[in-house]
Amino acid sequence: MPVIKDAVCSLCGSLCDDITVTVEDNKITKIENACILGHSKFVGMFEHDRIETPMIRKDGELVPVSYEEAIEAAAKILVNSRRILSYGWCSTSCEAVSGAIELAEETGSVIDSTANVCHGPSALAAQEKGSPSASLGEIKNRADVIVFWGCNPVHAHPRHMSRYSSFSKGFFTEKGRKGRTMVVIDVRKTDTAKLADNYVEIEQGSDLLLITALRSIVNGHEDVVPETVAGVPKAEVLELAETLKNAKFVCIFFGMGVTQSRSKYKNGDAVSSLISDLNQHTKAVMIGMRGHYNVTGFGQVATWETGFPMAIDFARGYPYYNPGETGANDLLVREEPDAAIIAAADPGAHFPQKAVRHLAKIPVIQIDPYANPTTEIADVVIPSAIVGIEAEGTAYRMDAISLRMKKLIDTRFKTDEEIVKDLTAKVRELKRGA
Ligand code: SF4
Repeated sequence: MPVIKDAVCSLCGSLCDDITVTVEDNKITKIENACILGHSKFVGMFEHDRIETPMIRKDGELVPVSYEEAIEAAAKILVNSRRILSYGWCSTSCEAVSGAIELAEETGSVIDSTANVCHGPSALAAQEKGSPSASLGEIKNRADVIVFWGCNPVHAHPRHMSRYSSFSKGFFTEKGRKGRTMVVIDVRKTDTAKLADNYVEIEQGSDLLLITALRSIVNGHEDVVPETVAGVPKAEVLELAETLKNAKFVCIFFGMGVTQSRSKYKNGDAVSSLISDLNQHTKAVMIGMRGHYNVTGFGQVATWETGFPMAIDFARGYPYYNPGETGANDLLVREEPDAAIIAAADPGAHFPQKAVRHLAKIPVIQIDPYANPTTEIADVVIPSAIVGIEAEGTAYRMDAISLRMKKLIDTRFKTDEEIVKDLTAKVRELKRGA
């Protein structure tokens, strides 16, 4: 029975690359090293609600068709539409993302990723202030102060702390957890906060106040800091600033508690400035705790191909980018798209009601291994192989390190990359014939 070592878990942005997988009769029968979330993806994929066949909606019902028929129907929708939204693409390979960008350019669509509703604001902040960062390997080997701000890796990235951060042992951090100071800043005492040396509880939406106060103290202006900041007594803020300044190597890991709370991208902008300030005293870096396993990869591929990381509008024949105007929700709430292609995402479950209502009115093409609420409003449904299990491909970890995901078992499903290629070819054929 084949035992595959060093497989990559394609679930969260940690992209653990030390998974051992046993395969028997083309089924995964044993997983070693994965956390409970990763395990559920590798083994649970056989139990989930898989889309068994391509489907087209006829008289209100989704009926099974061949891949060729589904691709032709999808291509016809794209060719006959004027304002197409292409959304998702963060739980698939970089190769599929590249193909999706080519298709968006061919059809003059807007292409946006799930980052727009999670870490997108930190991409905006990075454009203004930069993003001083490091690899997770450097952090494992060097960081003696780890800060988790607005994130809860115990539940969202279960192996992060043992592989790369608080609990891991590295070259200069051989004592592991005992040699590191762990700080958690959050609005409630999460399970991650329970493990911290210092838990700083702040008032909801007040992250910017605390970051600004820390910057003032780090820059020698503690006199301007009031007696309480973000609900935290000044003495605690001073102590936290000292911990950061006196570290040998600080990493601030930040989550959606920072990027999606009040002040949004200004929070990321301010964290970046705080990191720059700290670098006058010590070595400091920041990393976003990315959720979807390849949301970082979408940003990388989109940036090198178009110059922009998300919300890219090809309607003018060249890439135009203005989040707030060209984001998926911006367009849907304005009822602008007349068709949508949704891949590896579920706006039907996660978008605001007004956006979903508009999606339900227009032709929707769905590409996904699994049925989800978006399937209920889709007109063409194209099932795909699961990358990292049934197909190989490239993904970027949260620290922007690229990793090659392996194919572990055979499948009858086409890959996202193949589907997008076929769709682009069919669109070109239809346009030539038009
Ligand atoms: Fe998979 Fe994330 Fe768990 Fe690692 S931490 S095994 S990448 S789900």
